[in-house]
Amino acid sequence: MAKLYFRFGAMNSGKSTAMLQAAYNYEERGQHVLIAKPSIDTKGDMRIVSRLGVTRDADFLIAPDTDVRAEFAERRARALRETGVDISCLLIDEAQFLTPAQVDDALRIAIMDGVPVLAYGIRSDFQTAGFPGSIRLLEVAHSLEELKTICRCGRKAIFNARRIGDRYVFDGEQVAIDGQDVTYESLCGACYLEESHGVLGRA
Ligand SMILES: [Zn+2]
Repeated sequence: MAKLYFRFGAMNSGKSTAMLQAAYNYEERGQHVLIAKPSIDTKGDMRIVSRLGVTRDADFLIAPDTDVRAEFAERRARALRETGVDISCLLIDEAQFLTPAQVDDALRIAIMDGVPVLAYGIRSDFQTAGFPGSIRLLEVAHSLEELKTICRCGRKAIFNARRIGDRYVFDGEQVAIDGQDVTYESLCGACYLEESHGVLGRA
């Protein structure tokens, strides 16, 4: 039976790099994969950008109302028709932006359609609350794997602090509005609480 995998980590933990590496590992063996990403965080940008500078276009975007299982089935059938090679794996970048129903679809693709699904994403937002897609992935994925990154102090980073310019902010929308000078810094629990003056979650 194929499985649904959730590989999660803080910002800058190399999730996209790991995903592109996984795709490469399949393709090196002559197997075909499909790469998808939710369209919520960009304006229809297909590009997957890794920190190491490797980029690649997603094969398809997932809008909030996309039926992921139907979309995947259609693209799988087309690929098989055109190349004679079946799809060995579905990879999903920015999986925190999937809806819970789309995560359930990913589970069905693994179990009912027999194709492994590798979902990569961030566990929690800048206020330490789980993204809906990530919460569902933590609930139903067969396999959970943490991709680690280091805080400025050397401890393992688990939170994603939001910065506007050179200042940390702890209020705002879960997904930052385009055009703001927003960046994120991966922090350990101690450094996060130091910057937030002890506040976790929505103040
Ligand atoms: Zn720290």
